[in-house]
Amino acid sequence: MAEDTIFARIVRGEVPATIVYRDDMVTAFRDIAPVAPTHILIVPNRTIPTLNDLTADDAALIAHMVLTAQRLAQQEGIAESGYRVVINCNPQGGQSVYHLHLHLIGGRKMSWPPG
Ligand code: 5GP
Repeated sequence: MAEDTIFARIVRGEVPATIVYRDDMVTAFRDIAPVAPTHILIVPNRTIPTLNDLTADDAALIAHMVLTAQRLAQQEGIAESGYRVVINCNPQGGQSVYHLHLHLIGGRKMSWPPG
């Protein structure tokens, strides 16, 4: 069930995570398998499975997710050196948890294109 993704359980406080920020719309926590010195996941508190499920009604939510990433990048000290924000969508996009999330990744030089 969509409501029972691991991220929904983290949002509900049922599974431990290193939470770095939360408010009434989003929760941000450190990735359990970081790919860089900073790797934070920003998720909506409400379960939305994929980017494809967003509608115009979610415009404020997605803006808030991006602005949260911007603020956390400042907090992590990576805003000036640079960072990446990523939303993987569905299997070919590399999505493994079907609760929308934005990756904030930084603290090392990254390559392009992604694998
Ligand atoms: P995706 O591949 O769906 O874009 O990213 C899912 C991310 O969630 C991966 O980077 C993975 O390491 C992370 N992840 C999976 N399970 C957990 C968990 O239980 N706790 C935390 N903090 N991160 C998780």
